[in-house]
Amino acid sequence: MCKRSTKPQVQMAENKPLTPRRARRGCGRLAAMSGKGNPEFLRRAIRLATENVTSGRGGPFAAVVVRDGEIVGEGVNTVTASLDPTAHGEVNAIRAAARALGSFSLAGCELYTSCEPCPMCLAACHWARLDRVFYGASAEDAARAGFDDALLYEEFRREPGARKLPATQLLGEEAWQSFAAWLASPVKIEY
Ligand SMILES: [Zn+2]
Repeated sequence: MCKRSTKPQVQMAENKPLTPRRARRGCGRLAAMSGKGNPEFLRRAIRLATENVTSGRGGPFAAVVVRDGEIVGEGVNTVTASLDPTAHGEVNAIRAAARALGSFSLAGCELYTSCEPCPMCLAACHWARLDRVFYGASAEDAARAGFDDALLYEEFRREPGARKLPATQLLGEEAWQSFAAWLASPVKIEY
């Protein structure tokens, strides 16, 4: 019989995403601490973020997804390693958790991230239907380290045509065909 631990039930020495088998393994669950959050999960994310830097793998960001007091997915920033500009720690953790749980919805889960999410990751948290986000470093801390999200927030406030990355609508009516197909589809899976 195993004792309850104050640490997340994961292998701490490794810096690998959890597989579903590993995600389910573990001798106990941490007490649910919704609302306040459990600092041990945030410490895990911070540790993964630091290891990601010292190993030379990627940027100083990592996140873990927790359900019922148990880590179900982890992710570190792999933008440079995987040649994927969207491979932020939060996105990787969300993908790992969704795979592990076999669901595109992470309702009932919480995300612990080493740093306040960027706009993309914040949106990903919404799309994933996460219940709550806990973060360590602030966006200001990230800016001090050279990761400044302020530009993105400024951009999103501008009209599409006035942005640094201009967005222009073309073929609006033709593009509606995809939505028409969706509305009429008997085989769609709503999400
Ligand atoms: Zn991000």
